[in-house]
Amino acid sequence: MGDELSEFRAAALHFLETNARHRVVATQAGWGIGSDSIGLLDAHADRAAEAAALARSREWRRLVFDHGFGWAGGPVALGGGGRNPLLDEEYRRLEVEFDVPDQQPFATGTHLVAPALLAHGSPELQAKYLPGIFRGELVVCQLLSEPEAGSDLAALRTRAVRDGDHWVVTGQKVWSSQAHLSQVGQLLVRTDPDAPKHQGITMFVLDMDTPGVTVRPLRQMTGETHFNEVFLDEVRIPDANRVGELGSGWRAVMATLMSERASVGSGANNSAIDPVARLRDMAEHLDRANDPIVRQRLAALHTNAELRRFLIGRHEAAMQAGKAPGAEGSILKLLFGDQAVRCAALASELLGPSVLADSGEWGTYAWGRWITGSPMMRIAGGTDEIQRNTLAERLLGLPREPS
Ligand SMILES: Cc1cc2nc3c(=O)[nH]c(=O)nc-3n(C[C@H](O)[C@H](O)[C@H](O)COP(=O)(O)OP(=O)(O)OC[C@H]3O[C@@H](n4cnc5c(N)ncnc54)[C@H](O)[C@@H]3O)c2cc1C
Repeated sequence: MGDELSEFRAAALHFLETNARHRVVATQAGWGIGSDSIGLLDAHADRAAEAAALARSREWRRLVFDHGFGWAGGPVALGGGGRNPLLDEEYRRLEVEFDVPDQQPFATGTHLVAPALLAHGSPELQAKYLPGIFRGELVVCQLLSEPEAGSDLAALRTRAVRDGDHWVVTGQKVWSSQAHLSQVGQLLVRTDPDAPKHQGITMFVLDMDTPGVTVRPLRQMTGETHFNEVFLDEVRIPDANRVGELGSGWRAVMATLMSERASVGSGANNSAIDPVARLRDMAEHLDRANDPIVRQRLAALHTNAELRRFLIGRHEAAMQAGKAPGAEGSILKLLFGDQAVRCAALASELLGPSVLADSGEWGTYAWGRWITGSPMMRIAGGTDEIQRNTLAERLLGLPREPS
């Protein structure tokens, strides 16, 4: 797709340069210049600031979509460009170099839920939700994990009972990122309690304003309330909102989870800020760049970042060849989580107490968010241990874990 790619790149760059400014990345501009945010999920002072930021994000998403860059790979009948889906990744790579409103709120919809809807949803369901997801009108959350079903997701207990052309759903979900902002939820429920546990599960699309849905925020270590508990009390969902056949929810969600691992691991959810470069500048600023231990740790971080870069290339080539996302997403996710935590450890060591109290000094307290936020990267989308199990069984061919 050489010609198509260069023509697309040129058009996308023209659009971005016309409508946005290049991002001033501190590591390019020098220590102390520009924002010192490290950018592991954007923070908001309160719910009003969050709502205002989302409105700006939506406005930008709409502009992008209406200029043909929001869903280049999507079917024309649904408002997409009918082109190679890899163009969408190319656009994302270009966009992060520009100072545009945070597009993170849309990533769950576009990267995780849309693939499941495209693969398994009815044409009516696709037409109802997909254009809104890609145009930023619909923010989407995933209602998968439950208090007793996280790593062992197939143990989920939220029940759906058929009532005519509706299902009545009762149960509880937890850790539901951005559910408080969402219009739509990707919901996994048990429709057949007598079937073997992986076969009695069905996926639905839930309109979050349906009576009986209660969203309650959970505060995390960063101080923010990014995720929630979601209570479902006799929630009526039309059968038309079912994604795929009855009992096919496990297969449908597996596609989502593989995309999620690859997406988290490849940094699809992150900004252009390079934490390793930021740490290198910090070491120089603090006169620690010649400390052999610091140098060794920086070199290890750089090596890990390069490994990820090559693996992302390999993953993209596989996608381009039409292969479904596979176990390599688990490698990317493991490397990403490991890198995030190792960056946090080096920042803590270099900065000492100044990450704990905001003295106003540039590039210090800002790391506090990264340090408290990075452990989540080893849990979200499947824990490190689960990724290792996946790799052991699916790539190395080791015996399956006893069930
Ligand atoms: C930032 C963040 C965002 C999230 N967003 C969402 C969301 O939007 N929607 C959603 O549905 N969920 C979400 N989650 C939930 C996430 O998917 C779960 O936390 C994760 O799957 C782990 O489940 P659990 O918390 O129940 O831990 P458990 O499954 O109870 O695991 C506890 C510990 O036991 C280990 N363990 C469990 N089973 C095994 C095994 N077989 N072998 C070895 N070790 C094992 C785990 O690795 C872990 O260390 C989010 C989580 C985080 C941190």
